[in-house]
Amino acid sequence: MADVPWHFLAHPKEGKGAQNQQQCRADWNDPYLRLIDKGASGRQLRCERCKATSDFGDNLQIRYGKTRQQPWIRDEAEAIDSLAMVLEINDARVHAPQTCNALVIPPESRIRKGSVVDRLYSSSPKLKKIEQAKTPLARKGALNLIASELRCSVPQIEDALNEIGKGYPLYGENITQGILLESEYQALCDALPDVADDEDFVTSHHTQDWKALIRTLPDGTKPGKIIKAVSQLIAVNRLKEIVVLKGFKRLGQEGTLVPPDIVGESTWLPALELYGEGVFFSLNEDLLGRWESHPALGERSNDFRRRFAATGLRFDPEVIVTPRFLLLHTLAHLLIRQLETEAGYPAASLKERIYCTAGKLPMSGILVYVAVPDVVGSLGGLAELATPERFLLLLSSVFDHAEWCSLDPVCSEHGGQGPSLLNRAACHVCALIPEPSCAYGNVLLDRTFIKGDVATGMPAFLSGFD
Ligand SMILES: [Zn+2]
Ligand SMILES: [Zn+2]
Ligand SMILES: [Zn+2]
Repeated sequence: MADVPWHFLAHPKEGKGAQNQQQCRADWNDPYLRLIDKGASGRQLRCERCKATSDFGDNLQIRYGKTRQQPWIRDEAEAIDSLAMVLEINDARVHAPQTCNALVIPPESRIRKGSVVDRLYSSSPKLKKIEQAKTPLARKGALNLIASELRCSVPQIEDALNEIGKGYPLYGENITQGILLESEYQALCDALPDVADDEDFVTSHHTQDWKALIRTLPDGTKPGKIIKAVSQLIAVNRLKEIVVLKGFKRLGQEGTLVPPDIVGESTWLPALELYGEGVFFSLNEDLLGRWESHPALGERSNDFRRRFAATGLRFDPEVIVTPRFLLLHTLAHLLIRQLETEAGYPAASLKERIYCTAGKLPMSGILVYVAVPDVVGSLGGLAELATPERFLLLLSSVFDHAEWCSLDPVCSEHGGQGPSLLNRAACHVCALIPEPSCAYGNVLLDRTFIKGDVATGMPAFLSGFD
């Protein structure tokens, strides 16, 4: 990065009076250059001394060369062949952080409650203490100390060390984003025994009460179908999210990844710990399986997949464009918008996490959560909304809102809108959410996957119960 070489830009090398302008020297003490706004025809740079002019556009690219010198740096920099771009200071393309996030789940979330091996594994100071004990006597002392700290016996510590030596808890497995999501999904679905409130991952399962709600409803109604369509409802009372900064890019996605320490010598990456709460639900696998196999859905999602592949866009975790993903993603967005209007949450503070089939475990879950950099987390309002009665109201509105958009019929019949035409029936009025909330850049959204379409024979998701 460097200052914009205004003098150089104002004095073009060719054209009328170029000879004269070669004589004009940069002068840091005198404001002799003007940037003139010419309205529709763009902007112009003018030198008041030699009357040289040049056009100045938004996407101006200039030779990096030696013109990049800062006024206060006298040394000549190495000439670089690539072109430099002039950007405004607050332009988002100046610094596009590339991050990677994950939830803290058992065993790491159970430091206090967990088994000896969990607690030992999570404590690097303790492990280091044992490692640094060189003599048998020092080692014995360290083990005794740690055993009393963890309130267990020395043989238990020895066993735990053995497990860690064997590669606990991953045992040589290479964790990818897909596997990470699977483990999170599993952790969300499994009820933990004797959870303490101060653990980093606390859930309460409302699935039983959710299923019981159906008895209070008349047969064949929409709320009844929604209850059958949702297989699990879980309030996440407390969660911890880790966001790792992998580096940043300039000038959008095409740029090369610059490591956080610029030179790439650091062996660690900076990360943030965020605390919060959320609501998680998963969809009925039988219903999904039947719905998914409908050919009209496959056709429409293949269309999406082709467009997506053509853009070269990449997300972390990786996206496999299927009807299931499009359904889950659109549902998540509608739910976030609903939480904004009904529960008063600012949409930008909510985040989505989509669990969609990948690997061995069929997944179809949505986690909507808030996470803030305060160890106390938030006030519990979001987890409160996961109580069956309130959540049913929320989801009913979500399915209602999937049916229409105030820009209909334009929005519903759109062949492709948004960046690279990667959305169909989804626009700012109905399905888009603030940029920080969406993990997938507000693309791959289509309400048609929820509401169906008579013209193309796409079945509505809830029609499986008709
Ligand atoms: Zn001049
Ligand atoms: Zn719309
Ligand atoms: Zn999204």
